[in-house]
Amino acid sequence: MNAYKTYDVIILGSGPAGCTAAIYTARAGLKTLVIAGAASGGQLMKTTLVENFPGFPEGIMGPDLMFNMMKQAEKFGAEIIHENATHVDFSSRPFMISVEGEVFRGLSVIIATGASPKWLGLQSEQRLVGRGVSSCAPCDAPLFRGAKNLVVVGGGDSAVEYALFCANIAQEVTLIHRRDRFRASKILQDRLFSEPRIKILLNSVVEDIIGQEKVEGVIVRNLVSNERWRIDCDAVFIAIGYKPETEIFRGWLQLDEEGYIMTRNFVKTGVDGVFAAGEVMDKLYRQAISSAGFGCMAALEAIKYVEMIKSQDRI
Ligand code: NAP
Repeated sequence: MNAYKTYDVIILGSGPAGCTAAIYTARAGLKTLVIAGAASGGQLMKTTLVENFPGFPEGIMGPDLMFNMMKQAEKFGAEIIHENATHVDFSSRPFMISVEGEVFRGLSVIIATGASPKWLGLQSEQRLVGRGVSSCAPCDAPLFRGAKNLVVVGGGDSAVEYALFCANIAQEVTLIHRRDRFRASKILQDRLFSEPRIKILLNSVVEDIIGQEKVEGVIVRNLVSNERWRIDCDAVFIAIGYKPETEIFRGWLQLDEEGYIMTRNFVKTGVDGVFAAGEVMDKLYRQAISSAGFGCMAALEAIKYVEMIKSQDRI
């Protein structure tokens, strides 16, 4: 067992924020540990083509982008472990981070744990996860190639992207959104409206998912007419946004009412030497490139902080 190994910086999370932070701190010569999470790479691992990350005029597949970022961090000497942090102790420096059965110490910490998908909250939904209910169409929709109908729920970029992705797989897609307009970007909406295989239901919610062993359909209610009906389908993709992964920081850091880490000067938390970057603190921009930017800022602050405490210790 490797108890109490000490690093200059421990980075929690390995999406664009965590990886960018690791590239910067490792390249600056800081002994860097990335606790990447059991599902490393963050949300981009669940997307297909990323068209708006600068530097890739033809686009790049989300998982490829993340593998490249991790490789770049490792090239500069960052160590990466693919586990979840289970507990933190920020009461004194070095800070303690526990991973299943192991404790690491960090002179500084960068939190980039991101956000995880929200669910509708239906009993049937949880029962049928992995049996046709999914929060990731690019991961799971290919299992339903040739299906008569796939349902997507949500009105943001993810939902529209999922619906477009599913339209290449199924004979028909039904996109169900609770309001009368989408919040997805115009470019995606234009593609959506020109895709004849996608049927759009606005002002509508999924009240139940039908099926015992696998998804067979959904019960939909129109919020204007109150009319309820059943739609047969083989899978339901839920794309209704994300919630920040901050449970283990509760009590140590100030969180807002939705659970996001509150920061000042962009990336500084209330604890000196602990920084936050990406979707764990940013609910406004939430883009891969803005998360990478926050990761860079957090790294530059961590580098300054570690230099400062090391020079103080030498005095
Ligand atoms: P989002 O923008 O937060 O959209 C969530 C959608 O789900 C909204 O339309 C919301 O409805 C709906 N919703 C929320 N709770 C619901 C509930 N309980 N029942 C039914 N519907 C519910 O999330 P996102 O689409 O995952 O996008 C997250 C961020 O990633 C955004 O900043 C987005 O721009 C970015 N993103 C970008 C790309 C890209 O650029 N290619 C792709 C994916 C995501 P309301 O509209 O009524 O609130």
